[in-house]
Amino acid sequence: MIDAAIISTGDELVTGRTTDTNATFIADRLMQIGVDVVGVMTVGDRPDRLRWVWTEACKLAHVVIATGGLGPTADDLTTETIGVLFGRELVIDEEVGERIRELFRLFNRPMPENNLKQALIPEGAVIVPNTLGTAPGYRMQVGTPDDPRHIVVLPGVPREMKPMLTETVLPWIAGLAGTGRVGHRTFQTFGISESGLDAALAGIPGEGRWQYRANFPEVSVRVTVRGDDIDARLEAFGREVYARAGQHIYGEGDTNMEAVVGGLLRERGLTVAFGESCTGGLVAHRLTNVSGSSSYFRGGINAYANGIKERLLGVPAALLEKHGAVSQEVAGAMAEGARRAIETDIAVGITGIAGPDGGTEEKPVGLVCFGMAAKDAPTVTRQYQLWGNREWVKLLASQIALDWVRRYVLGLPLLEIGRQGAAPKKPQQESVGPG
Ligand code: ATP
Ligand code: MG
Repeated sequence: MIDAAIISTGDELVTGRTTDTNATFIADRLMQIGVDVVGVMTVGDRPDRLRWVWTEACKLAHVVIATGGLGPTADDLTTETIGVLFGRELVIDEEVGERIRELFRLFNRPMPENNLKQALIPEGAVIVPNTLGTAPGYRMQVGTPDDPRHIVVLPGVPREMKPMLTETVLPWIAGLAGTGRVGHRTFQTFGISESGLDAALAGIPGEGRWQYRANFPEVSVRVTVRGDDIDARLEAFGREVYARAGQHIYGEGDTNMEAVVGGLLRERGLTVAFGESCTGGLVAHRLTNVSGSSSYFRGGINAYANGIKERLLGVPAALLEKHGAVSQEVAGAMAEGARRAIETDIAVGITGIAGPDGGTEEKPVGLVCFGMAAKDAPTVTRQYQLWGNREWVKLLASQIALDWVRRYVLGLPLLEIGRQGAAPKKPQQESVGPG
């Protein structure tokens, strides 16, 4: 099996000014074609450190892919270092040199001589074309005939690097012997903790690599298989995963909750509205991030003040007085009011205490109440004790509201959620759904 190491070069990366998105992108794409990434190494623009990192990376992996340090300025040292380290002369690639001269002629400007530095490549290297910038990348074989290593050098600018990787480098790596067939499936879940999901999926028979990723407020798990019968094995894994954690899986692959909910509503021809208090319009914002949302999202009422809950959502003053704005009763009335005002099949009301101020002993920070009013179903309400800072509470509440819609449409029971996947204080068993 082929493995790879990734080198990210640049002072901006080791000083924390720039996030290393290149390595993440490259690692993900390599993984998809079945190349194991053994390490990601980051160094600043210094010759001694560059020599060190290249030496170590070539010991670690068959293929070394590096980004950055290809530019024309004095701190761009990648090619120089490679020349010294692997004993190669640097030569001007005529075609690239001509392109750089041409660019300056086009703009009618004299060319600073150091620009030609970008046309310098180690002798024997193969160019990786860069259609979006001046500096091309290149690859070459180093090491010994018995133990060959391949190095690939790409520019640091993500916009240039990405197409060079996907269009030229990945197909070439896939053609190297030993990558083998590989396939994977990613399951997106909500309402179960990372450890809870791990426990639920523990011991699934069959050979696969399981990777968990928590990306608040969601957890995804990806299973990768290699070798023969990939499709059948992924199919079998999928059956097991759904049998064990099905109600928490809201989608597969590259998707998110708002896209999934939108897809379901569109498919069933249903419309939705929201009466939002503590989420401040976040649910509406997320839903409208999905293109085509106008076919199911009719609108929302952002009723923050009690007076607005009364006036625009028709929440009775007496209800607010008796139970307080953060109560299941008011959440239910907000849902009914939103559904009435906006004339939809489904509406969800959300009211809670996002914090950090405003909590009381009886109603602590993080308490969020939800109500859902829907066609042919009694209004249901529920409260959850959420956690985290203000931003987290809002995000989590918006996620729950969207998940409620998903569960309603699919006829699934309402979410049970507590910290770390623990059971909530007052479990309620009723389910929602048409019928
Ligand atoms: P150029 O020809 O533009 O000088 P280069 O190969 O020299 O390209 P760098 O100068 O190292 O690349 O980086 C150019 C820009 O690309 C940096 O300003 C930085 O914002 C971005 N960049 C570099 N490396 C990374 C990385 N690993 N992740 C994300 N962004 C990066
Ligand atoms: Mg640089």
